[in-house]
Amino acid sequence: MTKSNRQAAVDLHIHSSLSPCCDDDMTPNNIVNMALLNGLDAIAVTDHNSCDNVEAVIKAARGRLVVVPGMELQTSEEVHILCYFPDLDSLMSFQDRISAFYDGVENKPDLFGNQFIMNERDEVVGFRKQLLLASLNISIDEALQYARSLGGIVVPAHVDRPSYSIISQLGFIPEYMGFTLLEYSQKSSVENYISRKYKLITSSDAHSLGSILERKMIIPVEEITLEGIFNYLSS
Ligand SMILES: [Zn+2]
Ligand SMILES: [Zn+2]
Repeated sequence: MTKSNRQAAVDLHIHSSLSPCCDDDMTPNNIVNMALLNGLDAIAVTDHNSCDNVEAVIKAARGRLVVVPGMELQTSEEVHILCYFPDLDSLMSFQDRISAFYDGVENKPDLFGNQFIMNERDEVVGFRKQLLLASLNISIDEALQYARSLGGIVVPAHVDRPSYSIISQLGFIPEYMGFTLLEYSQKSSVENYISRKYKLITSSDAHSLGSILERKMIIPVEEITLEGIFNYLSS
């Protein structure tokens, strides 16, 4: 059996200019360059209910760091879950499936912020009409089923926060949902909330460049590749 012999510095919850609540300068290249400057080995750009900028981030990275395909979904229970996939195609298939559950409300950029879709040169190539800062009409159970059927891993986001977390919304973490990994907010302690049976990961949930983590969250991996990071998340 291969033992973990590498350490990867990760920040697996970063928003881009697609998320309306996020700074417009969270472009693919700015995110990648800040992550490299901070010495990170792997990142995930997890926009709200959409993954339209992930391909551009992967291309902008040009293999200089690992980009885990992901999305932060808001379920009908107002729970935020991070959905990670082993490849971009699986993430795109997931987006196709969940797009049936948008509630039809359109974004008002002046009110909520821009939802820019960008290419790997940081050019705006489109925008999302659908307001992404809203719950989808999909339950957490259905979302889990969809994500896992496509090989995805689901991680409850910022479980220690007083809103949009599985604990704030459901009151507890149902065992039958089969989570093994939880994300907690970097500013809070989770010791009072979480039993020892879960692996824990912290991320920045960055909405601005200055918030992206430095080498703070270190995970053991067999190799610093997408497969290596994904194996850690799924084990
Ligand atoms: Zn969130
Ligand atoms: Zn977030």
